[in-house]
Amino acid sequence: MKKMTLKDLNIGQRAVITDVEGEGALRQHLLDMGVIPQAEVSIVKYAPMGDPVEVRIHGYELTLRLMEAEKIKVKPVETIEAEAPAMETKAKPSKAKVEHPGLGEGGKYHPKGSGVKLPDDTILTFALVGNQNSGKTTLFNQLTGSNQRVGNFPGVTVDRKDGVIKGHPNTLVTDLPGIYSMSPYSSEEIVSRNFVLTEKPKAIINIVDATNIERNMYLTLQLLEMEIPMVVALNMMDELHANGGTVDVNLMESLLGVPVIPISAAKNQGIEELVDHAIHIASYQERPGRQDFCDENDHGGAVHRGIHAVTYLIEDHAKRCGYPPLFTAAKVIEGDELVMEPLKLDQNERETVEHIVQQMEAERGLDRYAAMAEMRFAFIQKICDLCVKKPSESKERIKSERIDNILTGKYTAIPMFIIIMGLIFYLTFNVIGAWLQDALGSGVDWLTQAADSAMEAANVYPFIHGLIIEGIFTGVGSVLSFLPIIVTLFFFLSILEDSGYTARVAFVMDRLLRKIGLSGRSIVPMLIGFGCTVPAVMATRTLPSERDRKMTILLTPFMSCSAKVPIYGFFVAAFFPGKGGLIMIGLYVLGIITGILVALLFRKTLFKGEAVPFVMELPNYRMPSARNVFQLLWEKAKDFLQRAFSVILVATVIIWLLKTFDTSFSMVTDEKDSILAMVAGWIAPIMEPLGLGDWRICTALISGFMAKESVVSSLIVLFGDSVSQAIGSAAAAALLVFSLLYTPCVAAIASIRREMGSKWAVGVVIWQCAVAWIVGLAFYLIAGLI
Ligand code: GDP
Ligand code: MG
Repeated sequence: MKKMTLKDLNIGQRAVITDVEGEGALRQHLLDMGVIPQAEVSIVKYAPMGDPVEVRIHGYELTLRLMEAEKIKVKPVETIEAEAPAMETKAKPSKAKVEHPGLGEGGKYHPKGSGVKLPDDTILTFALVGNQNSGKTTLFNQLTGSNQRVGNFPGVTVDRKDGVIKGHPNTLVTDLPGIYSMSPYSSEEIVSRNFVLTEKPKAIINIVDATNIERNMYLTLQLLEMEIPMVVALNMMDELHANGGTVDVNLMESLLGVPVIPISAAKNQGIEELVDHAIHIASYQERPGRQDFCDENDHGGAVHRGIHAVTYLIEDHAKRCGYPPLFTAAKVIEGDELVMEPLKLDQNERETVEHIVQQMEAERGLDRYAAMAEMRFAFIQKICDLCVKKPSESKERIKSERIDNILTGKYTAIPMFIIIMGLIFYLTFNVIGAWLQDALGSGVDWLTQAADSAMEAANVYPFIHGLIIEGIFTGVGSVLSFLPIIVTLFFFLSILEDSGYTARVAFVMDRLLRKIGLSGRSIVPMLIGFGCTVPAVMATRTLPSERDRKMTILLTPFMSCSAKVPIYGFFVAAFFPGKGGLIMIGLYVLGIITGILVALLFRKTLFKGEAVPFVMELPNYRMPSARNVFQLLWEKAKDFLQRAFSVILVATVIIWLLKTFDTSFSMVTDEKDSILAMVAGWIAPIMEPLGLGDWRICTALISGFMAKESVVSSLIVLFGDSVSQAIGSAAAAALLVFSLLYTPCVAAIASIRREMGSKWAVGVVIWQCAVAWIVGLAFYLIAGLI
């Protein structure tokens, strides 16, 4: 009989994993997420399009594609019970009430004040490490306070944030990307691992989600192996308590050998105590009391003996590299080349390791990867059995299930998605954002007026006057007026993200995006692209793979941004009155179709290969913390303002100068003689085949590089109402298509440059123009025939 796989299970049916097939990083990742032999799984649901699938394992929800599900062999629980009816039930420890500290109450494991203290002026560096959604950002904000120096470090794949702990000037906390294990699965995991391994923080603050200790602890054990002073912050204790769960913190401390501090980051409970312990262990450099978790009685101690044999063998190499021996041994057993390389084991040593490992595999009956993962999960199981009283039912989980019945339901998921996104865009662009934009716009207008009359009265030199009013105020002002829309859009999107809905969208949409070589996670940035490319490009930072991230960045400009709406409106009114709705929808769809075609092309050329496998946790829905949301908005706004007053200011001034002066640098009376008109004149022949050879149209398009809205304002200035006499309707169609597809504005290019570098940014400008030219020409020719 063919072995049963996860894919063959019915919804709700329970089964035990017997084997996890496949190989490489993906399999390692699955094992690290707790998909190990002997673990119990059940299918929660399939995505509306039948793939991926949501499973429940170790008390949390995980999504994976059918392709991966097929590799996981299972045995339904009923058959196991039928085969071995008298299976002995594990002796559970008594659940008698144990005394343990509550929130913020002193931990007792570490008597303070022992050992040798680091000099007082040492900067205590802390790494904030934990799973995704364990509350790192919330804790970081609590630790540093919102008015602390929070800097972004561009250049790394994902943002890394540093900040000083409130009231402790000699500290520096770094918020690292969320990771599930110390195996290099995705680029952020490598960033986080290298940070711990090579930058040697003085201590680690490991944040563990108390409502999901089983999975979160896996990383904890690996971090303990690093032999860096560490405290465990047991977060979300409020939720655990509210559901009737408890943790015997003292026992957990003694089992792990590090201080464990129950906290609630969202409710600001236990933070002071956490800081207290963290600073103590860092300044006294108290290393974890335990690094080794293998059980000498488990399956004849096969894994235990294997690990220690390898540890002794490589100890000198590890020491030379400054790597902790047990961590190194584990990585050597797993054959992790990133760690093996610097060790420089000779041929003989490598072979000895291989022999030891093979012996271990044979005795344990599992391959090395599964054996190592199983060993860690067995220890975690022991901790959980001894110290954790899990709530029988979690309110949050029941609530999440109810919400998910609708939001990821077979028939409701996609309609709900469309309604939610529609509502967000409606509110952003038509209601809140637009209202704020108008308000800000009138503010800027008023300021402009005031400055204008002031300079008038003071008889300022006309050149300076023009530069300040037309160049700076009008130019930067028009860009600035987008701030409210961007902030509002980010407000909604951060709520989607923090509440846990974004993960669901990725789950629902994965199948569609796979067809163009991306994974479900790329959908979010693309949706934002309909609003504005700038935040869309920024939003790609959440994607786990470089390839997906780059490809998504290159596709977002095809999602017609809101600043192009005025262009469409202008031409529809002039050339195709009454057909507005149809043409607008047509343009949006054309953008999407072009994007899809380009994605298919990229997939065959620049970005060969497959999107990252879709193994993702579906966290419970949670109320986003107001503090997180406002901190994020503040950062985005600051970021945007910085750009508006740097890149955009400079570019505005340049355009203004070009349209004001001629080549001999005297001010022109007719813009036709300006440098801009001259440059536009060079471009005119290129645009001629599309019927757009008029220099004024070229000028308008160039000014659109500044901001798309200025295409319309330039056209109005240069043509008045007579556009329809200057070009025909075929050319107008070509112009619409060209405007839809040609280069994104400077702000967008600047953010692409920040994410991908100058070469790509320039590439995007040229490439988008080329695509726009080709498609525009096609439309011109076809429209000419009709
Ligand atoms: P990160 O992904 O690790 O940075 O996690 P976040 O800080 O973004 O938190 C994920 C979610 O958990 C957010 O919705 C937070 O509001 C929520 N959260 C964080 N800490 C707590 C806590 O102590 N209790 C509760 N109930 N929720 C929390
Ligand atoms: Mg976060």
